[in-house]
Amino acid sequence: MLLKDKVILVTGASRGIGKAIAEKFVNEGGIVYANARSEGSLDNLPAGPGRLFPLYFDIRDAAARKEVFARIHKERKKLDVLVNNAGVMKDALIGMIPRNIVDEVFEANVFAMIELVQLAARIMKRNNGGSIINISSIVGARGAAGQLVYSASKGAVVALTKSAAKELGSAGIRVNAIAPGYIDTDMYRSVPEDRRKRVEQSVSLGRIGKPEDVANVALFLASSLSEYVSSQIIGVDGAAN
Ligand code: NAP
Repeated sequence: MLLKDKVILVTGASRGIGKAIAEKFVNEGGIVYANARSEGSLDNLPAGPGRLFPLYFDIRDAAARKEVFARIHKERKKLDVLVNNAGVMKDALIGMIPRNIVDEVFEANVFAMIELVQLAARIMKRNNGGSIINISSIVGARGAAGQLVYSASKGAVVALTKSAAKELGSAGIRVNAIAPGYIDTDMYRSVPEDRRKRVEQSVSLGRIGKPEDVANVALFLASSLSEYVSSQIIGVDGAAN
């Protein structure tokens, strides 16, 4: 029960990595506010031994974001952990990148994350700290052909994580990012099969990742096991080449 009575918000928790994180955190005794857009999609998450509260909203919606933080503050008077996991991936080749894709990807992966960090920091400052965990990607540091926009958004996550950690450290708020490699989720399965085959062969540990592989690192970063860890980008990629 590493997260007993910790109040946690996980975005994008209906599927994939976010779902594995929410499940693990509830299992560790956390009071988990789990977010997704599609109504009903959080119905089959476990409700114990901690507690789970579904929150259906689009992280790009400024009014909804404020409402959610006001609700958490009213109900719990604190927020211990924010996991900024929700994100979108859109591929487009250079020369054929429409502006609407740039806007869509940056709105969700970067601009909404910056606002969520600010809202979380406001509550955490009043309660002597907390842990913010942002989900970046292996491509945020390495880049990938066909993924200029997505890679740039995940690189921005690295930079904003490090800046937030430096600014918020004096308030006891730790900010770290996880940079997953290739993780078996709907997002990964949307990649064309020939490219998936290539990347799978590039993983030194011989398999692609499971959502639980990322959730285990998120648990470490959310718990007091990492109380002196901040401003770090932790790769979960099986030593992909
Ligand atoms: P996924 O299977 O596509 O799931 C995405 C989740 O995010 C869903 O729960 C979705 O809920 C939610 N979501 C998307 N846009 C949202 C929005 N605007 N507001 C609220 N919720 C939203 O993705 P995943 O593979 O688990 O990826 C999770 C994170 O890890 C993302 O940030 C992704 O970039 C990153 N990542 C993934 C991989 C990988 O190989 N899978 C690798 C590196 C990094 P709804 O369906 O209800 O919208």
